[in-house]
Amino acid sequence: MRSQCVVEFGRPLQEMETETPTPQGTEVLLKVHNAGVCHSDVHIHDGYFDLGGGNKLPMASIKLPHTLGHEIEGEVVAVGPEAPGVDIGARYAAFPWIGCGKCPSCLRGEENICVGGPRQLGCSNGCPGGYATHVMVPHPRYLIDYGKADPAQGAAYMCSGVTAYAAMKKVGKLGPNDQVMVLGCGGVGMMGVQFARAMFGKGPLAADILDEHLDAAKKAGASATYNTKTPDEAKKVMADTGGGAYAVVDFVGSEKTFAFASQCVRRGGKVIIVGLFGGAMQMPLPMFPFRAIAIQGSMVGSLTDTQEMMELVRAGKVDAVPVTKRPLSAANQTLDDLRDGKITGRVVLTP
Ligand SMILES: [Zn+2]
Ligand SMILES: [Zn+2]
Repeated sequence: MRSQCVVEFGRPLQEMETETPTPQGTEVLLKVHNAGVCHSDVHIHDGYFDLGGGNKLPMASIKLPHTLGHEIEGEVVAVGPEAPGVDIGARYAAFPWIGCGKCPSCLRGEENICVGGPRQLGCSNGCPGGYATHVMVPHPRYLIDYGKADPAQGAAYMCSGVTAYAAMKKVGKLGPNDQVMVLGCGGVGMMGVQFARAMFGKGPLAADILDEHLDAAKKAGASATYNTKTPDEAKKVMADTGGGAYAVVDFVGSEKTFAFASQCVRRGGKVIIVGLFGGAMQMPLPMFPFRAIAIQGSMVGSLTDTQEMMELVRAGKVDAVPVTKRPLSAANQTLDDLRDGKITGRVVLTP
């Protein structure tokens, strides 16, 4: 098999030829057809996450060489002896956010936030991802049926899709006049707009710094749009919603967006932080009880979240994300382009 590997953090990927593994036990070997390139791949490739204020979170746990790629779609080509019932030739997306299966999080079904030793495809040490001709999936339960969706979309749903879905799910049940705000309408935020519409039966409010993002959000069903650059825009949200949005889902996660979110959220409401832009927050502690607000983080999604999301996808309730295809050999160029902000939509590598 062929892989595009990180051999040194921050240095160009290298093509490596290794023996194609044979599935053992419950393992399933996929021939990769589509591998999405995600912004977190850029961070893993760099070797650290930027925490803002000059602070870096290093990827010390990942031993090199490492194969990136957690948005994977492919074809079953070999099946382990303890994985019966999986047909050779069947096409699936691979759920990448795999945990140890034994820790308290995993036992709650929250493998995506495993505390015992995550085995995330393309993201955890010793777990090669989809920038390759083949990828090993540890168990058939992680094979996801993406229905009639474009296979490349099936791949993209495994990260941006489930991230948006799981964040929206944390909003919970809405009262009759409750509003949800999607803050940051880039790629993941736009999926958030669509899932909000599908899950709550009405379009969310949308806020962004760019008018073209707001136009796109409006076209995707947002009920009202707010440009966060406009002075006193948070006051307008308060007035329009009768006291604030019940939930603000922040797909940017910067100091500025958090400040906007905390001004727009209603008493008893919640701010859900999804984006990893960075920075720090400061808030007077008495504001928590006075305003009875909750601030929660959301990180990708669980296997259950993924299956629920795919039900919406298979039911045709979510529009396709724009996808561009490039050959696997363009992996390195694609990471560079993403780092330089030259890419809109999703790039999917095809081996
Ligand atoms: Zn991702
Ligand atoms: Zn675990």
